[in-house]
Amino acid sequence: MRLYAATTNPGKLRDFARAAEGQQAGGEAITIETLAGLADIPAPAEDQPTFEANARTKAIYYSQHAPDALVLADDSGLEVMCLDDAPGVRSARYAEDQAQALGFPVAPASTLDERNNFALLRALDGVPEHCRRARYRCVLALARGGEVVGVAEGSVEGRILNAPRGAGGFGYDPLFLVLEYGQTMAELDPAVRLAINHRGRALRKMLQQVSERAI
Ligand code: IMP
Repeated sequence: MRLYAATTNPGKLRDFARAAEGQQAGGEAITIETLAGLADIPAPAEDQPTFEANARTKAIYYSQHAPDALVLADDSGLEVMCLDDAPGVRSARYAEDQAQALGFPVAPASTLDERNNFALLRALDGVPEHCRRARYRCVLALARGGEVVGVAEGSVEGRILNAPRGAGGFGYDPLFLVLEYGQTMAELDPAVRLAINHRGRALRKMLQQVSERAI
């Protein structure tokens, strides 16, 4: 069985592919690949207030462009306790939001991930350790022909460091310390990262639904 992911993000695709390894539905291996022609389909707005609403919107939208396919869409992000769960659904655009709120660019010349990480460190400047608790969340929605047939969620708890550590992963990973391993997501062995991360957890739950409910 093949699921078509509505993402071209290599970090997400790698996580999905690894989490699907060895999984079966109806005696058939489950594989995950990018939805063909995704780049040519105008992206829908990701402006809903929750991860689930964004994931559902994307799954419905893209599955209407590929009527027979099972389309998997995700929304994910970082929630930091002392920031009232920000950046949350705005995780990818946090630096942009902060720049607007403050009236000046938070970190001018760098990659999007670097700008977001810098904006997060700035927002947490002077915040005590115990307030830096955070979690990654991922909600997946699976749709066929414009109808959602499954929703699953995964999360992982951690703490935001004062400076980045590690070169693996993407996004906020160098700042996200996984307490039980004493390493950031960017330092962890990729196999461990996948075993514990929010996306892998959400996908395993989704695949369980697919196989149990014969989706
Ligand atoms: P989206 O799910 O593509 O809307 O993006 C969510 C944003 O949250 C990403 O651009 C990252 O900044 C952040 N994010 C989501 N998942 C991860 C992760 O596994 N590691 C690091 N950052 C993540």
